[in-house]
Amino acid sequence: MRIGIDPGVCEGNAVCEALAPMVFELDDHDQARVIDDVVTPDGSVSDEHRALVERAAEGCPRLAIQVAG
Ligand code: SF4
Repeated sequence: MRIGIDPGVCEGNAVCEALAPMVFELDDHDQARVIDDVVTPDGSVSDEHRALVERAAEGCPRLAIQVAG
């Protein structure tokens, strides 16, 4: 699965990090990012994290997270 986070929409409230701490974290500028450890060499994220990622995408108050694939 591919995860996109719109930096122009994310407001850094860390809801995604709280819901899926294995997948999301805030960077030094309080923007959400996907943790490097869960990104495969082709840029995707393993389906084992799908349930958490979808929960975070649905829980993001700004709807800044897109999930594809
Ligand atoms: S929940 Fe949404 S708005 Fe909040 S930090 Fe995560 S991506 Fe950004």
